[in-house]
Amino acid sequence: MSWPGRTIMHVDMDAFFASVEQRDNPALRAKPVLVGGASKRGVVAAASYESRKFGCRSAMPMAQALRLCPNAIVVKGNYGKYSAASKAVFDVLRTFTPDVQPISVDEAFMEMTGTLHIYEKRWGVSGLPVLEKIGRTIKQRIREAVDLPASVGISGNKFLAKLSSDLSKPDGLKILDPRDAENELAPMPVGVIYGLGPKTQDRLRQLEIKSIAEMRAFGEERLVSRFGEQARDWLRLSRGEDNRPVRLEREQKSIGKERTFFDNIGDPEELRSLLLGFTEEVARSLREDKLTCRGITLKFRLGDFSTFTRSATLDAPTDSTKILWAAAADLLTKWLHERRGALRLMGVSLHGLSGEEQLDLFAALPAEQTQVRTSGKQKKVDETTDAIVQKFGRGSIKRGGSLRDE
Ligand SMILES: [Mg+2]
Repeated sequence: MSWPGRTIMHVDMDAFFASVEQRDNPALRAKPVLVGGASKRGVVAAASYESRKFGCRSAMPMAQALRLCPNAIVVKGNYGKYSAASKAVFDVLRTFTPDVQPISVDEAFMEMTGTLHIYEKRWGVSGLPVLEKIGRTIKQRIREAVDLPASVGISGNKFLAKLSSDLSKPDGLKILDPRDAENELAPMPVGVIYGLGPKTQDRLRQLEIKSIAEMRAFGEERLVSRFGEQARDWLRLSRGEDNRPVRLEREQKSIGKERTFFDNIGDPEELRSLLLGFTEEVARSLREDKLTCRGITLKFRLGDFSTFTRSATLDAPTDSTKILWAAAADLLTKWLHERRGALRLMGVSLHGLSGEEQLDLFAALPAEQTQVRTSGKQKKVDETTDAIVQKFGRGSIKRGGSLRDE
């Protein structure tokens, strides 16, 4: 072992969507590229490193990014391409350890503690050299699979691994011995601490606390008296301590799908059709995992970042696309009646998930309360659709019409 304890890796693709566009179009290489909606209300979904020199960032309004970098080339995004690349990257990661926790389409934590000895034996090296070789090999395999740059951070916990990959960007690899973390962190700004947002940073600045060293020197009890118990977590992280586990996908407590739009969308029909696609996708995940759900939540974010959720509880646990779509469509209709404006983001999530064992409990209830799984025609439709999607991939089938007509 290189250091006692855990070995955690954080892998993060660099300027992911923009890198995909630069890969596929040589005319965009080495140029400032902004992926996103080109309209006045558009948002930057990804900014190439060439554009970041001018201050462009993802989630920035497109108009603002173009003021910072008027020569930037705006490219409308292509989610199909990005999700294919994302899937290929995650396939690569899972060949190194089964314990992969996706954080977003282009970012994951990997638990390497129990896997390290395999590589030590395979390559006949140990200590830092084995970590360096794993990191380089992952980057190389990602290159071979999707021809895209990734940054890798390796350390003793999630916080330090992510910090390392951030510091190494772009196309970097950084290994941070957790025993050196306390010293390395000292001069860094407090903003590197997970969960410490811009407003809190402002309040800390008023107390002359800008660096992690200054935060530590201020003293735990004085910090807690001003900021509450959360300050203890900041100080723990500031010393490089973080014991959050890498969680596997199968442990997830909810199933969801959300999307930030390239251009804000206000058209009800367009929103309906997107929501139908999301609902079909989450219902399929539910059936793939052999689960049912009790509730559904829609998430709406407006152009000014204000975010709303609307939820419904179902009469009985279900895994049926038709039932879920009825609930989702109803929530959307009510939302549209509130007339709050065009959406920047929309999402759907399912909760109250149960597996097979709990289904049997419901099966003991009277029949009218136990629509646990749909039967008959609609169940056939779900099964057939799932089989087709499994064989030919998403987008191979559209059954929006059939659901709407019923
Ligand atoms: Mg990234």
